[in-house]
Amino acid sequence: MTRLSGSPAPAPSQPLQLMLLVVPLTSLAAFKIWGEIGLIAVAAVMPVLVLGLRLKGRNPRVAPLVARDTGTRQDFLTLLTPLSMPRDGLDLARAASACFVMEIDDFARMQDRFGHQQADLIAERIGARLRAMLRPGDMMLQVGDGRYCFALNPGPQVDLETCINIAGRIQTTVEKLIRTEQLTLHATASIGFCQLNRNPGETAASWLEAAEVALVEAQLQGVSGLRGFTRDLAQKSQIQLRLRKSAARALDDGEITAWFQPQISTDTGDVSGFEALARWHHPELGVLGPGQFLPALREANLLDRLSDVMLAQAIEAMARWDTAGLNVPQIGVNFTEDDLRDPNLPERVAWRLEQAGLPTDRLAVEILESVVTDSQDESVIGCVTRLSEMGCRIDMDDFGTGNASVSAIRRLNVSRIKIDRSLVRAVDRDPEQQRVIAAVLTMTDKLGIDTLGEGAETPGEHAMLAQLGCRHVQGYGIALPMPMDETLTWISNHRARLVPAPTVGHRS
Ligand code: C2E
Ligand code: CA
Ligand code: CA
Repeated sequence: MTRLSGSPAPAPSQPLQLMLLVVPLTSLAAFKIWGEIGLIAVAAVMPVLVLGLRLKGRNPRVAPLVARDTGTRQDFLTLLTPLSMPRDGLDLARAASACFVMEIDDFARMQDRFGHQQADLIAERIGARLRAMLRPGDMMLQVGDGRYCFALNPGPQVDLETCINIAGRIQTTVEKLIRTEQLTLHATASIGFCQLNRNPGETAASWLEAAEVALVEAQLQGVSGLRGFTRDLAQKSQIQLRLRKSAARALDDGEITAWFQPQISTDTGDVSGFEALARWHHPELGVLGPGQFLPALREANLLDRLSDVMLAQAIEAMARWDTAGLNVPQIGVNFTEDDLRDPNLPERVAWRLEQAGLPTDRLAVEILESVVTDSQDESVIGCVTRLSEMGCRIDMDDFGTGNASVSAIRRLNVSRIKIDRSLVRAVDRDPEQQRVIAAVLTMTDKLGIDTLGEGAETPGEHAMLAQLGCRHVQGYGIALPMPMDETLTWISNHRARLVPAPTVGHRS
């Protein structure tokens, strides 16, 4: 634990007062016992002793660095407690004015990629740098893997702007190049903070929790996120907390289910597939989208169970469409990087398809472009390769948001690229969007890979995608995601009114 000066412990008594009281009394006693020599000795030694004690009682300006100072949350709360009392009676001069929680971005992935020892070394290097930038009275403690808490000594005024500046300085310090014997890298960190006057409760625990709530929100922004605690966030986090507490039960009770959004061929207008998208039918809050509950499931380590539920329901849907004589060629299921790290996933997929009597090419495994870009993890690559070898289709999701290389696309045997909505938006009106999509389609054409435009909301976007040569579309302009039962009627109605898609023919 690193503790810098400015501790809330009682201040040591003044050396002068001590000397005035202790030296004459001791000298008198020494004279009575040992005579003149005793008197001279005590008079000479006592002031030195008293001053020595005083110096020892004062905290050093910077506490000695410890190689690894992982504390616990409780340790940090013990430090914070005297500082987080209600303002009445609080010695403001000693109040820490803001509590920060910082976590190195993607630390878990660093551990996987470089090993725990290297990741810890990186965290230690970052910790040492951060300690060096603290001022007397600031406190800092590593409270978990890649996670540090800070409490700041009050300056004359630590307002929101100051907090943002300090957080920015912390982030800049983290971002400087790190070298170990084995690697060189740039890390980033996300930070949540809470000013003392925004503490939603009156305890150190509520103060730290508020900073942690802000951290979770900051992490949702992506890398280098930063968020201060506010009342709105408190409300949101209350809902998140409720969702987090009930997420596991909701999965067990079947409240979280797959909804289905159709994909159609730009050539024929017919249904070319569906994508399974998770929805939580919450008894009080209504139907929730994944944005509202995926973070809760992720935190509760339940994403693998979600994938299992989604896979099972997607395959069941396919079997029902088959039984109803509706020709739906394929179903897409979203898998996270963590799912793809599971070496048993291909066998689980194969088993479920076999149970339903479905060939493997009826399932499209949707993987994010960013997973392909970032992952140097052989287990992920191995899993995708295995799924592809089994005959499953590989859909590269959100294409245009990462930088997947052509070699990665080939290596993973990607069957289709799903062009992200950010490239599709206003494609009918924006020549720049058209050029980008045309370039993507030229590449996929050369590679012999299929394409789908995501998030087509208007007939204009749909028509332009078709005209440029994109082979499938999906989006609100065609249909919103819907529960399984509604798909049966939707498919029939769609086929009944099937007119050629609003295309003017492929350009190429
Ligand atoms: P995604 O895989 O890119 O899924 C497409 C998202 O775009 C869906 O949002 C869909 O409802 C939405 N969308 C479809 N058409 C349009 C449109 O025309 N305009 C706009 N603006 N949006 C459209 P949704 O269902 O909220 O899902 C969001 C993300 O959550 C998904 O993005 C996917 O990454 C993730 N997700 C959804 N279901 C699952 C799941 O079962 N497992 C996992 N791991 N992730 C899931
Ligand atoms: Ca998807
Ligand atoms: Ca997508």
